[in-house]
Amino acid sequence: MQASLAPQATRRHRVVIIGSGFGGLFAARALKRADVDVTLISGTTHHLFQPLLYQVATGILSEGLIAPSTREVLARQKNAQVFFGHVTGIDVDKHQVVTDALDQRHVYEYDSLIVAAGAGQSYFGNDHFARFAPGMKSIDDALELRGRIFGSFELAEMAAASGRTDDVTRLMTFVVVGAGATGVEMAGQIAELSKRTLSHDFRAIKSQHAHIVLLDAMDKVLPPYGDRLGGKAKRRLEKLGVTVTLGAKVVDVDAEGIEYESHDGTRHRIEALCKVWAAGVSASPLGRMLAEKTGAQVDRNGRVHVEKDLTLPGHPEIFLVGDMIALDNLPGVAQVAIQGGKYAAKRIKARLAGTPDDKPFHYFDKGSMATVSRFSAVAKIGKIEVSGFVAWVMWLGVHLVYIIGFKSQIGTFFHWVVSFLGRGRGERTSTEQQIYARVAIQRLGEDFTPSITNSDGDLDRTRAVAIDRLAGETG
Ligand SMILES: Cc1cc2nc3c(=O)[nH]c(=O)nc-3n(C[C@H](O)[C@H](O)[C@H](O)COP(=O)(O)OP(=O)(O)OC[C@H]3O[C@@H](n4cnc5c(N)ncnc54)[C@H](O)[C@@H]3O)c2cc1C
Repeated sequence: MQASLAPQATRRHRVVIIGSGFGGLFAARALKRADVDVTLISGTTHHLFQPLLYQVATGILSEGLIAPSTREVLARQKNAQVFFGHVTGIDVDKHQVVTDALDQRHVYEYDSLIVAAGAGQSYFGNDHFARFAPGMKSIDDALELRGRIFGSFELAEMAAASGRTDDVTRLMTFVVVGAGATGVEMAGQIAELSKRTLSHDFRAIKSQHAHIVLLDAMDKVLPPYGDRLGGKAKRRLEKLGVTVTLGAKVVDVDAEGIEYESHDGTRHRIEALCKVWAAGVSASPLGRMLAEKTGAQVDRNGRVHVEKDLTLPGHPEIFLVGDMIALDNLPGVAQVAIQGGKYAAKRIKARLAGTPDDKPFHYFDKGSMATVSRFSAVAKIGKIEVSGFVAWVMWLGVHLVYIIGFKSQIGTFFHWVVSFLGRGRGERTSTEQQIYARVAIQRLGEDFTPSITNSDGDLDRTRAVAIDRLAGETG
């Protein structure tokens, strides 16, 4: 089905924004008072606060708190319309964006386009690792990991109760790959989960005996934070019982464990059911698609080399912001996306007001922060380095301010009180679908396309093909 959703004949300038993450949402909001029609299209119906995904995965926060509905967030912005859909094509000559949503295809027309489609997980060419070591980029990822983490303890309890003690060590070993902020936060939280939250919940196992390993191919923890803060984070993790193994390049991952190679070429294997991939990002494929159409260059992570004003070469009407861009070594952090989104909106408004200028995008670095555990974080603001409790309180404050919506802020605050002052975690629920759906859908392969109709037999045919395929695989 194809439908054109181009706004009806209007003299208003049409701004289409792709993505409801930090870049897209802040661009839309910055256009609130502009005399334009804003159309925000996203592959999710929510805005995702990615920095707190690890707290969803470890049972501290519910997904709704960090992923409010974009439609609700923009409900009062009269010039903004929100559409769900995966952008599959952009015609830079006709100024059209094509989306697929279930079995519907739509075309949107723009005068200005802001592309803020972010980045996905990169397995450095080893995409098959994903099956056994989920990444942490989406709500689906976080919920799957929650199921896998808590599920591993459940399986260990069963194994211990039935005398299969050899299995218990493997089931209670958790490997996190990547010693950047996400990896450090995940490793720290799994350690706290095992030492504090679950310590009274099991009868056959002692959750405190869980073995948490943090691996990284580089020789440092939290490299962007420098040696001093990185060293502090490493020591704090070790104090929590995490084994930090650096210079360890992961070379294989399977259902039962993970293999890595040390600098001297020796191979090591860790038997572990639960693996978390927190290493490497790759920009949205939309970047490469646009680069091919416009002659822009992309770097090895798929990020597009944009002009100083965040536009594509030869296309002043197309802005790229956030994790998709390669410009002056800017990091892939929320503030780059937020400031980029606001900048693009400002440029559009200035052009419409007839006051365009050549002022390039300037990123103002407000600093970076990462938590290691309860009461412990590291923060680097310019030359100032802070660690421990003070940094942790700063981290809490900053994250609370940037969570979108008062409801989410209040809810998050109370969940933190329960988890950090007490030992409970209110969000431990996980379902079979969370744990198995991703792998199951992948196994169905390209023959499976989500559909809202089976009246013409499409869905049944898809199911039949998929079931045949599975039968062939297992038979
Ligand atoms: C686990 C984790 C922890 C992080 N922690 C921090 C932190 O502590 N501090 C910090 O500053 N940064 C952190 N970051 C990085 C930060 O979240 C990103 O830099 C930021 O989200 C980038 O914003 P963006 O708008 O470019 O992309 P995103 O926020 O990723 O948004 C991309 C949007 O595009 C949509 N989209 C993608 N492809 C399509 C398509 N084809 N069609 C339609 N829509 C599409 C997505 O649905 C999404 O809405 C973290 C990231 C992760 C994953």
